[in-house]
Amino acid sequence: METMNKFRPTRIKRLGKTILVRWNDGRADEIPLTILRDKCPCATCNGEGKTEENYIPIKAPFKPTGFYEIEKILPVGNYAVNIIWKDGHNTGIYSWDVLRTIGECFSDTNK
Ligand SMILES: [Zn+2]
Repeated sequence: METMNKFRPTRIKRLGKTILVRWNDGRADEIPLTILRDKCPCATCNGEGKTEENYIPIKAPFKPTGFYEIEKILPVGNYAVNIIWKDGHNTGIYSWDVLRTIGECFSDTNK
């Protein structure tokens, strides 16, 4: 099956508090782990309950230890990576499209 993704990373490197993503078109994005985690695309972080009126956002100032730290990055097929966070959160699958969007958004607002 041919992938629909136009852009794909040639390299993903963990730095201190960021990851560096190099793309096949020559672009490089350095994405802070805080951004990456806050943009976690999984169902838990984007639950249905968020649209309900009585939903109380759990955006507490308290974050568990390791919330913004990566335990490991696992490849998922040839279209995504699964980022395992040190607080145990492991359901975030970042497709190349998601990574690219995060990278572009962050870079654009950080000029
Ligand atoms: Zn998540």
